[in-house]
Amino acid sequence: MILRNTIAGQLVLLLLIYGRHTLLSSAKTVANEQMSLALPEPRAYLPDAQNLDFVYHDHEELTRFLRATSARYPNLTALYSIGKSIQGRDLWVMVVSSSPYEHMVGKPDVKYVGNIHGNEPVGREMLLHLIQYFVSSYNTDQYVKWLLDNTRIHILPTMNPDGYAVSKEGTCDGGQGRYNARGFDLNRNFPDYFKQNNKRGQPETDAVKDWISKIQFVLSGSLHGGALVASYPYDNTPNSRICRSSALCAMFQTYSAAPSLTPDDDVFKHLSLVYARNHAKMSRGVACKSATPAFENGITNGAAWYPLTGGMQDFNYVWYGCMEITLEISCCKFPPAYELKKYWEDNQLSLIKFLAEAHRGVQGFVFDPAGMPIERASIKIKGRDVGFQTTKYGEFWRILLPGYYKAEVFAEGYAPREVEFVIVEQHPTLLNVTLQASKYIVGSIGNAAARKPKKERKQRHLLNDELPMPNE
Ligand SMILES: [Zn+2]
Repeated sequence: MILRNTIAGQLVLLLLIYGRHTLLSSAKTVANEQMSLALPEPRAYLPDAQNLDFVYHDHEELTRFLRATSARYPNLTALYSIGKSIQGRDLWVMVVSSSPYEHMVGKPDVKYVGNIHGNEPVGREMLLHLIQYFVSSYNTDQYVKWLLDNTRIHILPTMNPDGYAVSKEGTCDGGQGRYNARGFDLNRNFPDYFKQNNKRGQPETDAVKDWISKIQFVLSGSLHGGALVASYPYDNTPNSRICRSSALCAMFQTYSAAPSLTPDDDVFKHLSLVYARNHAKMSRGVACKSATPAFENGITNGAAWYPLTGGMQDFNYVWYGCMEITLEISCCKFPPAYELKKYWEDNQLSLIKFLAEAHRGVQGFVFDPAGMPIERASIKIKGRDVGFQTTKYGEFWRILLPGYYKAEVFAEGYAPREVEFVIVEQHPTLLNVTLQASKYIVGSIGNAAARKPKKERKQRHLLNDELPMPNE
């Protein structure tokens, strides 16, 4: 009941659903702290060169910076490793939040992943600067304070430290350092929803899969280089030819690949636009080179650009309902260090405002009739056939644009419920759902388990298949 008290203190209860009735209610204003949109913009900021210069940091320097920062800001940061690369380098994650060591009940966890391709390290450096910006601005920037008070931000600056170690500064194209130490492309190494992926799971990928399975991330960005665009799921498609080289991909593009759209396409487009429009030039959609595509408004569907199997963003979305997009932030994969300051200026606002999008849409709890949270209740927004589940505290989040929605809520041993709700622009809708015990005994027709969404069963099945891919 401690939980309930906390919740009561934090939330405005919008809807309690009993019996078969559904309520339609306009959303009410929540506490000021939830109202991200009313806050002033984050201020322009350049990190203190004494703490973090605009140069590339090798793994030792990166480790030293993260350790020093966590020692200096123990109330705002926590440093953990999700595993090691093949060559034994730690995959460090820095949490930045006013509650770095503990999940804040009712508040979302979000993440950034950098450097999945070892030779695309601008994102890796941007994430170090983002960490530095957050910790040093918490007391002076209202927006940053609000964000860190209401969000746990997990930052993995490098997912492929071994690849980075053999990459070369100033190399704008090519594959040297792209792969892990065994030659696997980590962004082709995840289980795939559309095609079987027979590539052997790599330690870096396994570490990320394990991480995602333990923390329910609401929103995520994966940082790449080699283009300037925000790309959103799906990356794969049921009926694509897969191009195995950039030359082939470029050729396919001239035949205009078909987009492969998720049921959350409106949300993914919006999230991508938030990044592109807050970026200094991404939304202009100018092509990096004459031979590469120009992207309208600086965004694209992944498969429409070029399809790929085993990508990380499709996995995040299909398996866990985490809204991950791919951020290509530099035309040159590994530009010279003197350009890093410019990249930071171009990306800092995008990096911050994208994370605040975790506070858009619907969030709430699923309770049993005694007011206890129900873990692993399945929720499906009607018309969006990707299920997601409550946490052990019964929490859920779903990023949605303004409109009327219906959610179906299922949990084993409880009667399923349908709930209607409204999303407005200004603040998240808080939705608490109480499920009544099922009248049927487990296993009988009509019990909640038997009605679990089809896709969820498929997802679980797919988790056991490991899988493979091409090359760009
Ligand atoms: Zn990449």
